[in-house]
Amino acid sequence: MLKRPLTPETYYRLPWNLADNAITWLEPTTKCNLYCEGCYRENDPFGHKPLADVIRDLERVKQMRRTDGISIAGGEPLIYPDIVPLVRYVAAQGWKPIINSNGQALTPELVRELAAAGLVGFTMHVDSHQVRPGWKGASEKDLNALRLKLAEMIHEHGEGKVSCSFNATIYRDTLSEIPMLTRWAHEHIDIVQTMVYILFRSARKRSNFDVFANGRPADVGDLVYQLDKQEQHEDIDSQEIADAIRLAYPEHEPCSYLNGTEDSRSMKWLLTLRAGNKDEIIGYLDAKFAEWMQIFHHLFFGTYLAYTRPCWTAWLQKLIFLTPFNKSLRQIFGKLLTRPKMWTKPVHIQSIMVIQPCDLFDDGRQNMCDGCPDAIFYKDKLVWSCRVDELEKFGAFIQCAPRSCCGGGTCAPQPAPAPEAAKAPEPAAAPAPEPTPVPEPTPAPEPAPTPVPQAEPVQAPEPTPEPAPAPEAVIAPEPTPEPQPEPVQTPEPTPEPAPVPEAVIEPEPTPEPQPEPVQVPEPAPVPAPRQDTAPATKGMTEPAVKVMTPPAVVAPEPTPAPAPEPTPAPAPEPTPEPTPEPAKAAPAKAAPVKVAQPAADKPAKAAPAKKSGKAAKKKSKAR
Ligand code: SF4
Repeated sequence: MLKRPLTPETYYRLPWNLADNAITWLEPTTKCNLYCEGCYRENDPFGHKPLADVIRDLERVKQMRRTDGISIAGGEPLIYPDIVPLVRYVAAQGWKPIINSNGQALTPELVRELAAAGLVGFTMHVDSHQVRPGWKGASEKDLNALRLKLAEMIHEHGEGKVSCSFNATIYRDTLSEIPMLTRWAHEHIDIVQTMVYILFRSARKRSNFDVFANGRPADVGDLVYQLDKQEQHEDIDSQEIADAIRLAYPEHEPCSYLNGTEDSRSMKWLLTLRAGNKDEIIGYLDAKFAEWMQIFHHLFFGTYLAYTRPCWTAWLQKLIFLTPFNKSLRQIFGKLLTRPKMWTKPVHIQSIMVIQPCDLFDDGRQNMCDGCPDAIFYKDKLVWSCRVDELEKFGAFIQCAPRSCCGGGTCAPQPAPAPEAAKAPEPAAAPAPEPTPVPEPTPAPEPAPTPVPQAEPVQAPEPTPEPAPAPEAVIAPEPTPEPQPEPVQTPEPTPEPAPVPEAVIEPEPTPEPQPEPVQVPEPAPVPAPRQDTAPATKGMTEPAVKVMTPPAVVAPEPTPAPAPEPTPAPAPEPTPEPTPEPAKAAPAKAAPVKVAQPAADKPAKAAPAKKSGKAAKKKSKAR
């Protein structure tokens, strides 16, 4: 396969962001009439939302995000009973209504009704990994017949005012179909405005990752978009799609992109604008052209541009007045000068878009689309629509932690040291019994001075049972040396009981020294070390749990950063002192970062068995 590296540094980075974007995602229903392998929404037979609720959500969207178009998806939006009124409402708000559908329920009548309601475009999701009645076992090439039928219906009954785009989820086994699909789109460039390749992604249970949500272990097998093949799966990236397209169109060159949240060079959305007619693609529009379109649209209409009606993408010749300002236009018009016949027919601009959803990195980071255009309003927030199932199943997006982490404090394995600490209690328990006998030996040492050799064997058995645990050996010597120094003084009186041979009788003399044991209270400190070890183990676990919440709480602390403001007031000497303080606050932020991982403290659940089947619960989703 041809390899020509993509160069994002030469492409225009689309200026889309959370608050100001070209499009916004809307799901008036989660009910669907198909099953698609790549779908990420659970098919709910009762998933239709009341129109009033949908409109209420849109009112909130209006307050949270400037947007050019509303992508009405689902579920299957064409089976939503109020789809026409909804399209009419969206258009009335000044937004461009776009319907993302599988096309199964599309009829000429419905196209006319929607066009009359203000629909700007359809994006039809058709690929060979769908279970579509009448198309069982159909290949991507076979499905071109369905694509053409839908495109012609939209073109004819939309009276050429409704744009037509096609989505296809690309799997490893359909990657080789890219050149064919791109050629097909070219052959129908007059009625197909956009071709979108969505690279298949799915949650996967992998042996080297622990997965958490809200600080608790999560089973990705519960998600709609979990994958059965698991570890064998290898994600496709935008570079591979470009390489495949270049097999059919060697000059294919993107002009703009959206980077990833974790990797600035990853191309999560990769847009190519090519110009031509059914006979020939005569050129590609460059990054400056894409930049102009976004900037001028925002300047004159207040929003960034995503979809346009067909009348704007046909007749590229109308842009001849811009040739002095754009190199790619000059090249295209230069070729047109050598092809007089092309001036008599429309030269179309067709978009080829590649969407590369979530990438999971080896260190557990998830690389999402930075400036997600398909953000959806969910529980009063704008979130990634491709991962809403996580919010519904776990109440939070999942986080992954590599199990093989080095323990550098940035992943779940951190709890590993905790269990080691847990071993501490062992020695703690061991010394417990030792201290008790210790007081006994205290009286013994008194007589011991003389029968030193005999006394030693008596103490010897104590350490022998627990010799293995080095810590014991460490603790044992500590208590012994303490009492020993005392007897060192006592031995002086003991030399009097010369009766060395009768060691058995020695206990009798012990009562005499008993008065001295008044110092025995010293052994009292012996239990002290027990407490030292016990709480030590607690200290290892408690913080781990407490630390979980602080992150969010600590986060606001940074706000005091503005403290530096007072610094200007005390211009004299006091200013230097406050400034160093905020500097200390900074490191405090770092701590929370590690905190998230302690969540992994909790024993990772053994990977549960894979889902036996996704069944007919899932349904297709056009994007
Ligand atoms: S919904 Fe997901 S795949 Fe779509 S743009 Fe947003 S982050 Fe990317």
